Parts: sequence; structure tokens; C-alpha cells
Amino acid sequence: MDKIDIKSLSKEELGLRLEGLGAEAYRSRQIFKWIYVKLAKSFDDMTDIPVGMRDTLKKNFYLTRMTALDSKCSKLDGTTKYLFSLEDGNTIEAVFLPEGKRGTICLSSQVGCKYGCSFCASAPFGFVRNLTTSEILDEVIHVKAAHPKDRITNLVFMGIGEPMDNYSNVLEAIRIFNDPGAFNIGARRITISTCGIIPGIERLQKEGLQVELSVSLHSAKNDVRSSLVPINKKYPVKDLIAACKDYTRNTGRVITFEYVMIKGENSSKADSQALVDLLGCMKCKVNVISYNPVRSYGRTIASNGASIQPSSGDIRCFIDVLKKSGVNVTKRKSKGEEIDAGCGQLRISKF
Ligand code: SAH
Repeated sequence: MDKIDIKSLSKEELGLRLEGLGAEAYRSRQIFKWIYVKLAKSFDDMTDIPVGMRDTLKKNFYLTRMTALDSKCSKLDGTTKYLFSLEDGNTIEAVFLPEGKRGTICLSSQVGCKYGCSFCASAPFGFVRNLTTSEILDEVIHVKAAHPKDRITNLVFMGIGEPMDNYSNVLEAIRIFNDPGAFNIGARRITISTCGIIPGIERLQKEGLQVELSVSLHSAKNDVRSSLVPINKKYPVKDLIAACKDYTRNTGRVITFEYVMIKGENSSKADSQALVDLLGCMKCKVNVISYNPVRSYGRTIASNGASIQPSSGDIRCFIDVLKKSGVNVTKRKSKGEEIDAGCGQLRISKF
């Protein structure tokens, strides 16, 4: 019989398997604690499990640990970027962002991405495969073990990949992140960020989970959004906003719209006014992010040679228009830039 990756099982599934092996189902709670709280590296670490049962566990399950090929820590703000190697040789990245009592991990959900957003560093690599639930959990286990003095309080699916495209595995991982007997991270501290996959947004609202939803909007103008986020041709702005309004109505949760500001493409006064017109009467937040030059990809200048990274003045003007119209808007702080751990720079920059 093939051994099972123990982290691919929910607590209930593990309990049932254990019963099938003649053990008590409650042992699943003990095992979860060993794996996700005490970060056990092997079944032998689980000292309060009888030796005979540990042997049964070894015969029936296996316990993975992700290997970090490399890591880079920013001297400025402690942001640490990890490059992980997966069993099949693929690589992904995760970033740990400490900030006072808060510790956020930016997680990848896929190896590569299908959606080819024009400004994103993951785009040129195309899509390889979904991460398994176990691999997503491993990202957090590794970072947690590497930072024993820090608390992991927040998780954001803003690394490589589109979480809505790997829906089941992402949701299974979230249930374990959420479990008070495992990572105990409140759903409200977990963010799923999507490029606007409407069926995913519709599905998520039926889960009864309090997770945060971010939608990468980047333009209120349909043609501009299609050029930046090609999936907009399938799920246009009008339909996307209608789905977001439904989501808010049905869940009572406020969506954050992410807006990567790219000078000359979506940064004008008319662009901010279009955003006001689109979102004006909706209960939501807008998070403006300065375009992070994808250095190794070379797309740092427009065809006329001008920089496409907005200045702080450009961002202030853009945000002012939104604020004056009553839109709840913030500017995202950029962290870890000197180690290329900023948004959109994962995997592409050389370690
Ligand atoms: N596929 C998901 C999650 C990955 S992208 C999504 O599209 O939301 C996570 C966030 O990083 C998104 O808001 C995305 O727009 C932003 N991002 C990607 N590339 C960036 C860049 N070069 N500069 C700034 N933000 C970027």
C-alpha cells in the first residue's frame, strides 16, 4: 500500500484513517499539534504517542519538510525571502514580513501562473502546476520554524500563482491555518488575492469563512484592464464588480481592490475618476501599490523611454481624487525591495 502524505489530510480524515488502523480517532488532535504547533520533523519526535503507534504511522504515512534552496534577509526591515525546492524539482517562493507584533507570510499557491498579467514577474514563466495542500502548509511550517521568536499572525496569498485556480487545496490549507489546534490564525487574518476569477469569488462566498478577499483590479476602464490583466477579456470589469457586490451583500465582508499604479498606463486623473465612478457607492477598500519594476524582465520604462514607476507625488495625486470622493483608500508600504522581495518580483530575481 502506498504511504499517504499526512499533511494532505484534514483532522477528520486523519481521525478516520487512524480508526481504520485500530487507533483512537482523538490521536489526530495530538498528531496535528505535533505537526503544526510543535513543528515535528518526524514521527519519532511525537513522544506522547506510544511507540507501537508511531511505527504504524511510519508504515502508513509520511511527513514532508520543504527545503529552502536559499533565503535573503533585508537589513532594512527584516523581510526575508525564501526560495523553496519542491519534491519534483520545481521552485516557489514565500516571503516573511515582520512588523512589530505582526508577522505576515506572503504565500505562493501555484508553480507559475496562467494569467500573464503584463506587470507581473511570474508571468514570463507560464504555468507549471498547482501546489498541493501539503506544500502550501509546508511554506508556513518552514517560515515558522525559521523564525521561532516571531509570531506568524497574518497570511496573504499574494505570492506566485492564482489561488482561485487552486481553490480546493488553498481552502484545505486555510482550514488548517485556521484550526485552533493547528496554526490558530484567524480567518480574518488570511487574505486570498485574485486577479478576478468570478467563479472563485462566487464559490468563496458560500464557504461561510471570514477570510479577507482582495481583488487585483488595476483599472476601472475595461480596455485598460484587459491590457494589464488579460483574464479581464473573459471576466470584464462590469461583471467582476457585480460579482464583488454580490459577495459583499451575501457575506457582509468588505473587499479590498488592489491597484498597482503604472505611470502612463493607469495613473492619470481620468483613471482615478473612473475608479471613483466604478466604486463610488460600494462598501470597499482600495489599496494603491506603486509598480515595482520587474528588473530582470526589463520592463522598467515605457516605449518613449519614460519611467513607468510612479513618483510619490503621482501616487498622492491619484489617492487624493479617491479620498475627496469618499473612497476608503490606502497606499501599500513597500518592503524588502533591496532583496527583490517586493510585489511581483518573486522567483524571477536571482538569489
Ligand atoms: N494572482 C493573484 C495573486 C498574486 S499577485 C492576484 O492577481 O491577485 C499579488 C499582488 O501583487 C496583486 O495585487 C498583484 O497585482 C501585485 N503585483 C504583481 N506584480 C506587481 C508589480 N510588479 N508591482 C507591484 N505589485 C505587483
